[in-house]
Amino acid sequence: MLSLFARRSAGVRIELSVAEFTAPCAFPRLERIRSLVASRFGGIEVSDMKIFLTDHSGPPASICRHEPEMITAASLIAEPSEGVLHAAVGNPCRHTYASYSM
Ligand SMILES: [Zn+2]
Repeated sequence: MLSLFARRSAGVRIELSVAEFTAPCAFPRLERIRSLVASRFGGIEVSDMKIFLTDHSGPPASICRHEPEMITAASLIAEPSEGVLHAAVGNPCRHTYASYSM
């Protein structure tokens, strides 16, 4: 794994990583999430991340992906400082996040 982005904002750690052999469509998605994070940096809450992860800009390489080419299988938001993991199974625009204590 190559860590490309890691910052902490309002207690929410944001880290995006890509494998060495990531599909080319990952890069527009990375740029989009960076832009969304930068737009709220310093005051990002879990509710903001949930909105960011449902972003549909730039299809078919949107952050929240739908068929026919690829689909978002799950969406995860970790709050290490709170010991909480928020998980949505399937597209986060269609499924509610459940929160789990870690
Ligand atoms: Zn969606």
